[in-house]
Amino acid sequence: MAMSADHRTGLRPSTRVVSLGRPPHEDDAAVNPPITLSSTYVGTGAVASGSRGYGRYSNPTWDPFEEALADLEGAQVPGLLYGSGLAAIASALDLVAPGGTVVMPAHTYQGALLGAQETAATGRFDLVTVDIADTRQVVEALTEAQRATADLEHPRPVMLWLESPTNPMLEVADMPALIEAAHSRDAFVVADNTFATPLLQRPLSVGADVVVHSVTKYLAGHSDVVLGACVPATAEVRDLLLHHRSIQGAIAGPFEAWLGLRGLRTLALRVERSCANAQILADRLAEHPAVTAIRYPGLPDDPGHRVAAAQMDGFGAIISIDLGSAAAADRLVEQCRLWTPATSLGGVESLLERRRRHTAEPESVPEGLVRLSVGIEDVEDLWDDLTAGLAAAGS
Ligand SMILES: *Cc1c(COP(=O)(O)O)cnc(C)c1O
Repeated sequence: MAMSADHRTGLRPSTRVVSLGRPPHEDDAAVNPPITLSSTYVGTGAVASGSRGYGRYSNPTWDPFEEALADLEGAQVPGLLYGSGLAAIASALDLVAPGGTVVMPAHTYQGALLGAQETAATGRFDLVTVDIADTRQVVEALTEAQRATADLEHPRPVMLWLESPTNPMLEVADMPALIEAAHSRDAFVVADNTFATPLLQRPLSVGADVVVHSVTKYLAGHSDVVLGACVPATAEVRDLLLHHRSIQGAIAGPFEAWLGLRGLRTLALRVERSCANAQILADRLAEHPAVTAIRYPGLPDDPGHRVAAAQMDGFGAIISIDLGSAAAADRLVEQCRLWTPATSLGGVESLLERRRRHTAEPESVPEGLVRLSVGIEDVEDLWDDLTAGLAAAGS
């Protein structure tokens, strides 16, 4: 598959999200790629002919979005769409050697953690969880994993799973340092780039082997589609993932893929506005008496600020605040009128959620932690609603 020309022509990312994956400039061409609804493709030969074959192997609707994602992440081969972010994550986790070791942030997205824990319980691989912000601890875990898997004859005995900032604790991993340490210890690196998007952070450019996305969140951006993606750095890994997707069947629906690319068109505007809103709200929340703790990498005092500033082009639009108790956090969520109480994040509309209401959330996440997904509304309306809610929460 040929890559889109835009990466080579050096257009800037906020132009590329608009222009990538368009049909050629020819008379009467549609401006947008079409949706192809077909479960199978014509193959006229006596032996199987044509390259598409069947709808579980390929769909023309996937192609422009898969190429656009690869271009934005800086990959030389197209990405791969999946039916959800977790389908992409499960597929990437399957790349580790049977009997190998996965090193994962203790506060990685809870669905990824739960999936890895359940797979580890079957004996498929060992799982080691780490504080991803503690570089020395992670490097020690990688050294130990390399030692424990020394007898495995498999190209990927150890997998380092990265997510930065983490969901919902917003810990920041020193990606260049960790990836270099991983590679020198035979570890394969997967990075969940859902929170940052390729506009703010490109893990492949600092050596990650695969990027995964919950396209459901910022890339699609309108809370109307569930979709995932893997963006591998090499054709060899892409072939493995493609085979896995074709056989395991976790494919994207054509309409969802089309909506994902449509959402991508406004990514730069949405990210710019939501990050600006988040910075203003975080600065004010840090001073608010009802907030006992706050995490946002854009705050100068945040433990992740220095590393985030070095490796990101912006600090994202997720803020976590701790109100000290589950009751206070529940009252805030109940009292907000504009902020919508819902799980998920990355849409145009602001959402909030007390994370520990999910029983699967790790106990190390504070009971009073509320995750704010800051949208693109007028920031003063968001602030007015939050302060009214915080006043009620404190009473
Ligand atoms: C939501 C999320 C996922 C899971 O994606 P789905 O599309 O819901 O399957 C994975 N990683 C992160 C960081 C997420 O926020």
